Amino acid sequence: METKIDEILNQNTFSKADLISLLQTDKETRNKIFTQAAKIKAEYVGKKVYYRGLIEMSNICSKNCYYCGIRLDNKNANRYDISDSEILDAVKFAYESNYGSVVLQAGEISSPTFTKRISNLLKQIKDISNNELGITISLGEQPDEVYQEWFENGAHRYLLRIESSNPDLYYKIHPQNKKHDFETRMACLKSLQKIGYQTGTGVMIGLPFQSYEDLANDLLFMRDFDIDMCGMGPYIEHVDTPLYQYKDLLMPIDDRFTLTLKMIALLRIIMKDINIAAATALQAIDPIGREKAIKVGANIIMPNITPGMYRDNYKLYENKPCTNEEAADCTNCMEIRIGITGDDIGYGEWGDSKHFEKRV
Ligand code: SAH
Ligand code: SF4
Repeated sequence: METKIDEILNQNTFSKADLISLLQTDKETRNKIFTQAAKIKAEYVGKKVYYRGLIEMSNICSKNCYYCGIRLDNKNANRYDISDSEILDAVKFAYESNYGSVVLQAGEISSPTFTKRISNLLKQIKDISNNELGITISLGEQPDEVYQEWFENGAHRYLLRIESSNPDLYYKIHPQNKKHDFETRMACLKSLQKIGYQTGTGVMIGLPFQSYEDLANDLLFMRDFDIDMCGMGPYIEHVDTPLYQYKDLLMPIDDRFTLTLKMIALLRIIMKDINIAAATALQAIDPIGREKAIKVGANIIMPNITPGMYRDNYKLYENKPCTNEEAADCTNCMEIRIGITGDDIGYGEWGDSKHFEKRV
């Protein structure tokens, strides 16, 4: 078994069967995967972590994903929409703190007014920062023209998780209707890639009904799609959502955490030069969860710079960390945190996906 794992880990291509067996490994073998991923990260993207200051603009959403705490039908969610001036204050904070990039994320809203508002914000972010801040957006499914308009206004990275690459599982965690169509999501990802965005996707790990084979297929999907960036994290149940009824089917939360680290490490091994985020959801389970992800292959961290008073309401899942803090607290805390991983921080740098640079 020992030598077999070493052999598998040193291959250039990985079969689905290899990935399934690696995902199921015990503690000792797991550490071999982690060591290999850390080595590959150092060699291909360097021991450096890049910041993306995350602004959770609004928790108003028109969709009803079964897992998410801010879904339309959750009447217990306390809705907010941060004003443009508050958003720009957070942007200034990121710029002054030398973060390099910001991320605008929100529930999914699609309307001409929303499109214009984002376009204006993008232009202002560029203005405020002398064109220096990189901009990632994560605003769900939109028509091609909208993606195009935002790209022209300065967004150059987009995050849209496929959530699961298995359509059957996708429809177990989403309503089966036009607003939650697997093919549309896939088409959106293709459109983002075609327009020229650095394209990021990802999945949730430890969902009810999800198998090791599903996760292995997710890794192969990301490889075959040729993604530039990935953000994936553990599924964390939320009491006010339909998926909560299956909580007894879930693996223990610590196992979901470890499985996420394995997914990150394996993705680093099979896609050596992409950007991989250490998801905030990891920190909801383990106080140093994101730092553990950095040690096994992740190279992006998204410090939350949403104004403190709104944070508590962007509850996609339970136990969301740092909801009672302000952005400045994050900067100090992050620096100490990254320090313990032994990596440097890419202050003031975009830290674009090296994979993207080679792909285009
Ligand atoms: N509305 C946008 C962006 C906000 S949601 C979109 O859906 O793309 C961002 C991500 O949060 C989703 O892609 C999903 O993977 C994650 N998420 C939502 N609910 C979650 C939960 N209960 N546990 C873990 N991650 C969750
Ligand atoms: Fe809305 Fe995104 Fe949550 Fe789905 S995952 S309900 S689109 S915020």
